[in-house]
Amino acid sequence: MSEAEVQEKKLNEDTELRIVVNEGEAIVELVDGRAEIFGSELVKNKKYLFQKGSRIAIFTYEGATVDVVGSGVHSYTSDETPMVIYLNTHAALEQIRKVAECDPSHRGPRIMLVGPTDVGKSTVCRILCNYSVRMGRSPILVDLDVGQGEISVPGTMGAIFINKMADIMEGFDCSRPLVFNFGATTPSENLPLYDLLVKELAEVINQRCAVNRDSNIGGIIINTCGWVHGDGYQCLVSAAEAFEVESVVVIDHERLYNDLKRDLPSFVKILHQPKSGGTETRSKEMRAAMRSERIHRYFYGTASSRLNPYTFEVNFSDVLLAKIGAEQLPESCLPFGAKIDDHNTKVVGVKPSSSLIHCLLAISPSTSISQNVLKETVLGFVVVNQVNDEAQTLTILSPQQELPSKVLIVTSIKFVDDRTIE
Ligand code: ATP
Repeated sequence: MSEAEVQEKKLNEDTELRIVVNEGEAIVELVDGRAEIFGSELVKNKKYLFQKGSRIAIFTYEGATVDVVGSGVHSYTSDETPMVIYLNTHAALEQIRKVAECDPSHRGPRIMLVGPTDVGKSTVCRILCNYSVRMGRSPILVDLDVGQGEISVPGTMGAIFINKMADIMEGFDCSRPLVFNFGATTPSENLPLYDLLVKELAEVINQRCAVNRDSNIGGIIINTCGWVHGDGYQCLVSAAEAFEVESVVVIDHERLYNDLKRDLPSFVKILHQPKSGGTETRSKEMRAAMRSERIHRYFYGTASSRLNPYTFEVNFSDVLLAKIGAEQLPESCLPFGAKIDDHNTKVVGVKPSSSLIHCLLAISPSTSISQNVLKETVLGFVVVNQVNDEAQTLTILSPQQELPSKVLIVTSIKFVDDRTIE
């Protein structure tokens, strides 16, 4: 790129430069002052590369000069940003951490971010995690958003234990996540299962906090789904209860704020905060494309850290396939004491068939198909690229050279692998 394409942007204090990469790439460099992207500080004179589709904000508390290069880049400066509000939220969390630090009978903050889709919930979680790391804390980021989660592939909920700032381009280090397989991209596909997994995840996190003082003090920052009506609302209330949060930030939705004030216990502090004008509203198609991109990244990595997945065949007889959720039996056929809802969380065996093509499968650590499969964190994911009925084999796309377990859980998520496209 020629020198002429460099655009120098001078930012005043408490302003942000919003950048949308419509075509090609953008290169960003901090040349003077101090600035950050979603809470991660920029290193002076280091070039950061952002791919097409990226949407970022370079914020500065004290003023900065930034160089931006890229012909397909749209950028503008805004001094109307809620960053100071987010900083105050962080300061309140830090107060709770200080109390927990002095008194082991207290615990760190537990905060949940809620709001409709595309209001910046994930971004605020990232900012709060980054700010706490910058104070030397080790928070836990919990992601309950099974549609656009940041921790693993779509259809999962999970947590990461954070002790370093998010990489400006790659995000947080998700190499050792705690992941539960939900198997679909909206809680509505199986509400009892969603609820059960939220409780299970909360239990695992509580156990971690009980034995790890840094995690207990660092606290829990929870991202949620953007489904805030009807059953979606109930999922939020249940999640707040399961994680015993003491504060909930509602971004940009007054009614949700009022409903939660009515329905959550009075000790829960509920805050109503604005969304940033920089957040992007994404269409259904864009969301689907982002999910696919997320799975692609799981197998193939990113431009700066590429991964080389394996493709191999496994015999039908070498794997045990299962799914979560069975056909509903009429009440009269249920065993004594069984609840009508139980079919939703029943683990049942599945026979290999061509319907598995392009299916994402979760790898369970279980050795057999049992109800244990449900509550166990998964080892990873594979995709079925082909099913050969004659040879009785599945062709699998996998991050590892061989399957770490033979129990594979079928999800309702599909992914068309690049290698299957001629
Ligand atoms: P969902 O409910 O779909 O998960 P969300 O509420 O978590 O969405 P985010 O993913 O945080 O929303 O934000 C939506 C998009 O807006 C992202 O691409 C993010 O990078 C971008 N974004 C957030 N804040 C800003 C900002 N201040 N300036 C520019 N872009 C921003």
